Amino acid sequence: MAFKSKWWEKWLARAFHVLLTSGVVTVVFIKETDLRKSIESDKPVYAACFLSLLSAATICYFLASLIDPGYVSTKSSNVNIEDGLICQGKEIASAVQSVDSNDEKDEETETTRMMLAEGNALKLRHCGYCEILQPLRSKHCEECGHCIRKYDHHCPWLATCIGEKNHRFFWAFLLLETAVVCWVINIVWNAFKSKSTSNEWLKANWLLLCVMIFVVLILIVVGLLFACHSYMMLTAQTTWEFMSRSRISYLKYFPDDENPFDQGYFKNSMVFLCYCKPRTWEKLIKEKIHWR
Ligand SMILES: [Zn+2]
Ligand SMILES: [Zn+2]
Repeated sequence: MAFKSKWWEKWLARAFHVLLTSGVVTVVFIKETDLRKSIESDKPVYAACFLSLLSAATICYFLASLIDPGYVSTKSSNVNIEDGLICQGKEIASAVQSVDSNDEKDEETETTRMMLAEGNALKLRHCGYCEILQPLRSKHCEECGHCIRKYDHHCPWLATCIGEKNHRFFWAFLLLETAVVCWVINIVWNAFKSKSTSNEWLKANWLLLCVMIFVVLILIVVGLLFACHSYMMLTAQTTWEFMSRSRISYLKYFPDDENPFDQGYFKNSMVFLCYCKPRTWEKLIKEKIHWR
């Protein structure tokens, strides 16, 4: 069982990322590479472009890591269990009544009411930690101590959950990081010095070789993650839904090859990248149910 991460553990993970990045960048600047030559020459555009890309990747890392990933509010949203409501699907009637008497008719409460009315097809899950009914596609993360809207996964590298609000920055970070790592591989490859014997070659290039092995391993991980999350973006899925589909009640209602949130590659990508407000996935799935 995981426990809620402490604030210093989160900052330790972020500091580790900065430290590793700084280490690699320091090596490619102190060795005789194209970057160093660019800085020493009168035309530092090459180095400026590299640093700009690196800065953009770092900004996306911190945006994804520090912003609210989509915490479900325990105050204004959903139906509160303390109001005398127990809703595990079988208490639908009393749930609807309770929501009707609630003064705070914000968007999420309305959504909850609609979902409860829909009841027989879709049952909201109750989170025993937050004492709320979770909006559709939400999941509780024990390390963050919150329910997260459109939960994707908890990322230890960023020390946060990836959810509805920060998934686009996480994707942008993976894209830019993949580009930076490819560029570093090219810089290191060009910087290897040729020597007549392997011993001499190792002696002259051991530090660059270490960096090369490290960045190639990073490229495999980051590149694969980028490919996976691009697929999730295009097909409007989350990692959690993709991995645990058979255990997710609202997806069980649909055939294995049908995703109720899929609106086509283009619209899926636009919603993923540009839509900032929390989406009412309940409406979408309800439309699909009615359409069927
Ligand atoms: Zn929760
Ligand atoms: Zn989390």
